[in-house]
Amino acid sequence: MVMRTIFGFEAARVETADEAIKATRSAGKILRNMESVYRRDRIDGHTRAAAPAPHRLALHRLLWKRGSPPNLRLLRIRNVILASLVCAAAALPISCQPRKWHGDQKVIILGIDGMDPQLLKKFIAENKMPNFSALIEKGSFRLLTTSIPPQSPVAWSNLITGMNAGGHGIFDFIHRDPKTLQPYFSASRVEPPKHGIHLGNWVIPIGGGTAEQLRQGKAFWETLDDYGVPSTIFRMPSNFPPVKTRGRSLSGMGTPDLRGSYGTFSFYTDDPVTAAGVVEGGQIIPVRVEDSQVTAKLMGPDNTFRKGSPTTLEPFTVSIDPLEAVARFTVQDQKFVLREGEWSDWVHLEFQLIPFIGNVNGICRFYLKQVHPRFELYVSPININPADPALPLSTPKSYSRELAEEVGEFYTQGISEDTKALSAGVLDDKEYLEQARTVLAEHRQIFDAEFPKFHSGLFFFYFSSLDLNSHMFWRLIDPQHPEYDAALAAQYGSALSEFYQQIDQVLGQVMQRVDDHTTVLVLSDHGFAPYNRSFNLNTWLRENGYITLNREPNPDQSQAFANVDWSRTRAYGLGLNGLYLNLKGRERDGTVEPGASADALLIEIKEKLLGVRDPENNQAAITRVDRARDVYQGPHSAQGPDLLVGYNRGYRAGWQTILGNFPADIFENNTNPWSGDHCMDYTLVPGVLLSNRAIDAANPALTDIAPTIFAQFGIPQSGVMMGHSVFLSTR
Ligand SMILES: [Zn+2]
Repeated sequence: MVMRTIFGFEAARVETADEAIKATRSAGKILRNMESVYRRDRIDGHTRAAAPAPHRLALHRLLWKRGSPPNLRLLRIRNVILASLVCAAAALPISCQPRKWHGDQKVIILGIDGMDPQLLKKFIAENKMPNFSALIEKGSFRLLTTSIPPQSPVAWSNLITGMNAGGHGIFDFIHRDPKTLQPYFSASRVEPPKHGIHLGNWVIPIGGGTAEQLRQGKAFWETLDDYGVPSTIFRMPSNFPPVKTRGRSLSGMGTPDLRGSYGTFSFYTDDPVTAAGVVEGGQIIPVRVEDSQVTAKLMGPDNTFRKGSPTTLEPFTVSIDPLEAVARFTVQDQKFVLREGEWSDWVHLEFQLIPFIGNVNGICRFYLKQVHPRFELYVSPININPADPALPLSTPKSYSRELAEEVGEFYTQGISEDTKALSAGVLDDKEYLEQARTVLAEHRQIFDAEFPKFHSGLFFFYFSSLDLNSHMFWRLIDPQHPEYDAALAAQYGSALSEFYQQIDQVLGQVMQRVDDHTTVLVLSDHGFAPYNRSFNLNTWLRENGYITLNREPNPDQSQAFANVDWSRTRAYGLGLNGLYLNLKGRERDGTVEPGASADALLIEIKEKLLGVRDPENNQAAITRVDRARDVYQGPHSAQGPDLLVGYNRGYRAGWQTILGNFPADIFENNTNPWSGDHCMDYTLVPGVLLSNRAIDAANPALTDIAPTIFAQFGIPQSGVMMGHSVFLSTR
């Protein structure tokens, strides 16, 4: 029997001529139905794109279903049907099934977010990285060209698809809807059902809510599937919800917490000095200690089953020992005791949406920061419980539960290190470091459980630690940083090298199992640089006459582009590196004619930006500006920013400007503990690529990785991929 895959998709098995005719008829009917649904969906797609607040933060455990963008999803179904039509029309006893792969070639990839070549070399020189040192000696080490811009969701999407942002459509952490000018997270969208029946205070949803991945293009492991190559993909960024695969995968960066955010901690205190309210990445909640007891509420997801979508709340109590620094917690049916300075294990929570029918499960950790004289309690963001996920976290669906059964619960939110709690001053360096160590310990536990099970095909494992901890601890390794503190550096300055050393230990575990048929790739998505000074792009655009405001901005204003007079605005900044023209026909109130005048304006702004000097030291703040049309290829090229602003080392877009706000000054010192960064001129922050084999490419790029993987398994490269295998023998 001939095995065949057509258009890269699994197609129906057709054994006889009779069956073939039947299949042709029914496939034709399905195809006609699909055409009408497809047309309807496209119209829907437009409506949805124009709707406000596209990133609705609400969850429906009972009703979720995975959605890929409608046109793509339906195109795939169409392709399957077309494939079976082709088979059937031939009326031959053929079958079209994915190949079974019998090779013994193995590929192991360690994806180390933010591993920096300069730091790696420094720690190798200090004899801290023996396994990396040995790998470089026996194999090879190259700088790896990162994505434009060098942000993790963009960079990993380049690796996943072998295309740049023009192909996969992820241009930044943050995108905007040109019709509303409102920002939203670029990687995924969680939406409640569109319609519901209103009954008293309840809204009973009709149809399912969706969790939709916004990255376009085929992931390399989908192609491995087509050829029957088994794969395990652990915490790949920009893969939530995880794409359907026969292999095992767990989602990573881009996975929300139970509130639908990228992580919202809670901090309960009776200290009247601490201002209550929302802070970036969390909320400060005032409590009272009465009779040595605190009663407070944990905030769950918004209950879209109820009118007005109120936040679900679950009470908990803390009984404080009047003398000792210790407290007893009662959370639903769980009781535990914490000493001051102690973290709880994962605590299980259930939030009731519809009594007895609809509940969602979450997990969180408590940290008792202080008992006397003030009560201070940190509660982690409430994570989706991997043992009973409210949204799809893994393939197969049961995989996250199996992992939880094997190693215990673990952080499932995309960025697990609570950098926001450190930035808000809720956790100090020591406390943040403990939390960050826990995250890596959980990843290593899963690695230890999963890696021994790998025997053939591809194994990808992602580590977030070097990225997040380089962001937070740069100020402790760099005396030039404005936030450098010698005393703190003496205490915690070695933390970053400790995380590098742990990754070295993991590499040691990998290398023990390498045989002649194994290719090891160790790579990072980008390197790292200091972030000393902020450049407020929107303030600069305003002062240079490209943006006009109706009135002076309110410093507390948090809404994007409030007070902007769009009829007198020609360009705006959004996201970490994006600059957009206010283009007629694209933006709601566009003013710039597409074509020659848009071109001239882009050239003018680019030249002015390259001339910007920091008044404090006369350094260039921006060393590179790329035009989208020069650097992107693919169907989505026109959807992203028009210019990509590449900052010099030491500089980055300011915290407020990236969300469409207007701080008073163009330049500011970066006083946030988030003191290292990489969202800069991409040529200044390359990543690393190491292999046990000789890398022939002199200047490999992230877009070469998918072609390299395919070459290892003898899979032909798809035409949309930009790169080539980095190994000569398989090019
Ligand atoms: Zn980063």
